[in-house]
Amino acid sequence: MDCLFCSIVSGDVPSKKVYEDDQVYAFYDIDPQAPVHFLVIPKEHIPSAGAVTEESSAVVAHCFEVIAKITAQMGITDFRVVSNCGDQAGQSVHHLHFHVLAGRDMTWPPG
Ligand code: AMP
Ligand code: ZN
Repeated sequence: MDCLFCSIVSGDVPSKKVYEDDQVYAFYDIDPQAPVHFLVIPKEHIPSAGAVTEESSAVVAHCFEVIAKITAQMGITDFRVVSNCGDQAGQSVHHLHFHVLAGRDMTWPPG
């Protein structure tokens, strides 16, 4: 399957690693939208938040555990987690990922 984030997980495409375990990989976004901007992804290919199932939801919970662990280690208490699902919402890579953004004031609602 031709998937950029699967290629990042396999190491075929280089990335700046933030965290890794057997289920999850986290790396800095190549085009940061905040002073801190990294992505947390399941190693397993799940196309989007809209494709999560009863069978695959445990890894999503694990992603959030990892987000809490990484931000705590970085000393970050205020941050935003975003997952774009579908073209209209701005999803450009069709492998589930959670953006973690921090280090600046955020506006609401997002554009
Ligand atoms: P989205 O547009 O929500 O699907 O998010 C995809 C994100 O992946 C964007 O913020 C991109 O900047 C980021 N991205 C694309 N290619 C790479 C790459 N090779 N390494 C790190 N981040 C990437
Ligand atoms: Zn993938």
